[in-house]
Amino acid sequence: MGAKKEFVVFGLGRFGRSVAATLADSGCEVMVVDSDADKVHDLAETVTYAVTADVTDEEALEALGIRNFDGAIIGIGEDMEASIMVTILVKEMGIPYVLAKAQSDIHARVLRRVGADAVVFPEKETGMRIAHNLMMGNFFDAVELSSTFSMMELAVKEEWIGSSLRQLNLRAKYKINVVGVRTRDYLDANPDPGRPFEPEDVLIVIGKNEVLNRLAEMR
Ligand code: ATP
Repeated sequence: MGAKKEFVVFGLGRFGRSVAATLADSGCEVMVVDSDADKVHDLAETVTYAVTADVTDEEALEALGIRNFDGAIIGIGEDMEASIMVTILVKEMGIPYVLAKAQSDIHARVLRRVGADAVVFPEKETGMRIAHNLMMGNFFDAVELSSTFSMMELAVKEEWIGSSLRQLNLRAKYKINVVGVRTRDYLDANPDPGRPFEPEDVLIVIGKNEVLNRLAEMR
């Protein structure tokens, strides 16, 4: 493994805070920057560096020493000018991956034009994902891998209990891939194909949306 990845998060609203804390929890080096000293202070114990600064101040931004960071996350939504300016400045510094939160479609277009590598709409995307999961009739999480494929958790079917992956041959029968099996709190990412399923098992599967939908509805 190489050195720890380094990220800088600008703007500590709910989105920025959540990204920063998750990256820090996962062992990355994280710098957070906000003009509001209280918000910076709240994260000081969680992240590696917490700095109070106005990101539209080019000199202050230069002084952060972030040129060699792996990525920048821009969590400023409301102040569109600040969000666009900091995107331009960090791209000019050569940060290879810049992800920015957009407030509107036009904001997203401008962010892409000035070099953002990814633009996200956290509320809209979370809403879509939740609606999708509700529609699938299952209350487990599904991750869309493309417009046709998803990965999701599937409680073991009654008729599968007592049979193993090898016996069930789900890949041939449903064209789904079982990439893991969770039993209570333990996730086995390399499931033993010979182990018979138990009633509490939850399968983590990848497959076509329509097949997964059908399986989710099956008892
Ligand atoms: P969320 O929905 O994630 O809670 P939001 O869109 O409501 O966020 P904003 O009001 O856009 O959040 O602001 C996010 C943070 O960005 C705030 O903490 C604010 O202090 C900070 N911020 C805004 N402008 C600047 C700036 N020029 N320099 C530094 N920080 C800034």
